[in-house]
Amino acid sequence: MPRLKKQNIIKRPRRKTTPLQTVKGMRDVLPKEQFIWEHILNKSRKLCEDFGFQKIDTPILEYTELFERGVGQVTDIVEKEMFSFETRGGSKVSLRPEGTAGVARAYIEKGMSRWTQPVKLYYEGSMFRYENPQEGRYREHHQFGFEIFGDGCSAIDAQTIYLAWKIFQKIGIKNLAIQINSIGCSECRPNYKNLLTDYYELKINKLCVDCKKRLVKNPLRLLDCKEDKCLQVAAAAPQIIDHLCSDCHDHFKNTLEFLDELELPYVLNSNLVRGLDYYTRTVFEIWSSGPDSSGRQSSLGGGGRYDNLVEVLGGGDVPAVGFSFGIERIVKKLLNDGRGLDKKVVKQVFIVQLGDAARKKALKLFDKLIDSKVSVGESLGRESIKSQLKIANKFNSKMALIIGQKEALDGTVIIRDMESGIQEVITMDKVIVEIKRRLKK
Ligand code: AMP
Repeated sequence: MPRLKKQNIIKRPRRKTTPLQTVKGMRDVLPKEQFIWEHILNKSRKLCEDFGFQKIDTPILEYTELFERGVGQVTDIVEKEMFSFETRGGSKVSLRPEGTAGVARAYIEKGMSRWTQPVKLYYEGSMFRYENPQEGRYREHHQFGFEIFGDGCSAIDAQTIYLAWKIFQKIGIKNLAIQINSIGCSECRPNYKNLLTDYYELKINKLCVDCKKRLVKNPLRLLDCKEDKCLQVAAAAPQIIDHLCSDCHDHFKNTLEFLDELELPYVLNSNLVRGLDYYTRTVFEIWSSGPDSSGRQSSLGGGGRYDNLVEVLGGGDVPAVGFSFGIERIVKKLLNDGRGLDKKVVKQVFIVQLGDAARKKALKLFDKLIDSKVSVGESLGRESIKSQLKIANKFNSKMALIIGQKEALDGTVIIRDMESGIQEVITMDKVIVEIKRRLKK
């Protein structure tokens, strides 16, 4: 390549550009966090596979109608939190705010009711909610979840809760509490909603602004408002457990008995309703029992039964149950519990080079070592041997392979034992065998 003469280099005036940032509420997952993410995902995937689940990926973008029909038009998610827009072709679409509706859509669209039931699927990926960002709450967050379609038995509810619990145990999360409730079905819930509305109408002056709206639109959500004054009103509200139809009552009783059999600790929480319309009967959340920065216990994951969702989305009468958790919340919890993020990167050998000819040899040797399954580090852009050896130390390398001008010409390599500092010259063609021999020791 011809060398550029100095007078040929045109100097352009430097323009200062404003550095761009992530969109509000979105965050980068930096390399040092990846290790803990992989740990969480690997444990979750492995357990799901052991329990007979298969992985499914669904699109991040779905027709808005899917969430309006599935999650429910008068839920916080659909009313206020969706990233929705019109495509150039005029279709109304939304970034998915949760995973279940998309998986249920796929179940119907791909004819999974013809597969052997139950169909057990797990998924992982980004969810988008236009919420007010705060610690542990983002506009893009990631969930891992699993769903079981085609089985209405209460043993499946218990197994879902058990798997969720087991995943958290395997990940290594401590101090957890299972909160559980039943929110009945389309037979018994309307009657309970009326009772609840009657109760809350008498207390309307004690409610927050949002709850006054909920009273008209979605009275069940009155029960899980986190405002202090609303919590007081909710404490004395009629409890749905006392108003379940006999089928829902038996289903809930059996679920609890199965949980007892599995020796799972749970807390009956009559105010747990979950924020999505599709739930029926069992709902549950797994809480971290230590308070979060706002002084409250925080939900790490939640789920429940949704026996009507497939039908509401245009499929048959298919009972289903599922669970999902937010990965960011689990990462935060692990860090709070004192779990370190750092995974020490170790390279068995490190290539040190000096000069262009040596750099060419180093490039080739690096490739050969990788093909021979030796973990190898390099710093090809650096000039000084001292600084390269410093990096070899950082990587805890056992050996440095030094190629200088002379070695490049001779076709040799200096093997330096990083601990003793003893160096030996060896021909390039023998280097892999020699390294493998030394690494075995
Ligand atoms: P949900 O279905 O709303 O209960 O969400 C399931 C789980 O996803 C929650 O228990 C949280 O762990 C997590 N999650 C929900 N919304 C957010 C958010 N905005 N930011 C981070 N994690 C979230």
